[in-house]
Amino acid sequence: MKPRPDAADLRTMAPNTKAPDMAVQQNKVSKSRRNNRRSHDSLTAANPNECTNCGELKRPHHVCSACGHYADKEVVAQNDEIDLDEDAA
Ligand SMILES: [Zn+2]
Repeated sequence: MKPRPDAADLRTMAPNTKAPDMAVQQNKVSKSRRNNRRSHDSLTAANPNECTNCGELKRPHHVCSACGHYADKEVVAQNDEIDLDEDAA
């Protein structure tokens, strides 16, 4: 078997070869291997639930981003409910 050229050989090779710092695959990846690799790439669609408080669509098992409620309890105060101008007045 022919020894693989090291980096120094690649730099002195003929000018029409690929740039030495560019990764070059050793073997062709067949359509089958490529498609098998991509078989895990698809994203699953989100499954939104309606918020029981405001009816907005929200991610299951997450606090509602619209009203800050989780399981009928307010757990995150919303910005419009906080009076930020208390000291400024
Ligand atoms: Zn809500």
